[in-house]
Amino acid sequence: MASDPTTSKDIFECQQCGQCCNGFGGTYVTEDDIENICRYTNTDPETFIDRYCDMSGSRPVLTTKKSGTCIFFDPEKQCTIHPVKPYMCRAWPFIKTLIANPENWDIMANSCPGMKKGITHQDIRRIATAEKTKLDKNMA
Ligand code: SF4
Ligand code: SF4
Repeated sequence: MASDPTTSKDIFECQQCGQCCNGFGGTYVTEDDIENICRYTNTDPETFIDRYCDMSGSRPVLTTKKSGTCIFFDPEKQCTIHPVKPYMCRAWPFIKTLIANPENWDIMANSCPGMKKGITHQDIRRIATAEKTKLDKNMA
């Protein structure tokens, strides 16, 4: 009998397929993200927003190439800003909204082959909460 999942690795293992960098709509960037990416790409925030972002309401999101992939996605290298990729990309798939809406997990898993389906809502909520705490601590 399979044992209950206890860690994020039990329910998610990235397959490096790059689908999450393609056509998922808004990858929001926070002020901290902008600061980190600017330092890494030797850009200033104004140029960064002008060159690499679109506005979604009042919030900047990374723009996409004509192909539909994120502006920072390279088919061979994958994420070209990996060491400083936005909070949202680091958090995936343990995004904050899962804590309130764990039923979204299986819908997200339709587009992300690294996510195992059929996990209980209780386990998703617990693991997503733990991962968020860990990420926030690392980024503080
Ligand atoms: S879609 Fe999922 S499995 Fe594919 S690269 Fe993104 S996180 Fe990894
Ligand atoms: S910043 Fe990197 S990880 Fe995030 S969507 Fe773009 S290419 Fe993918």
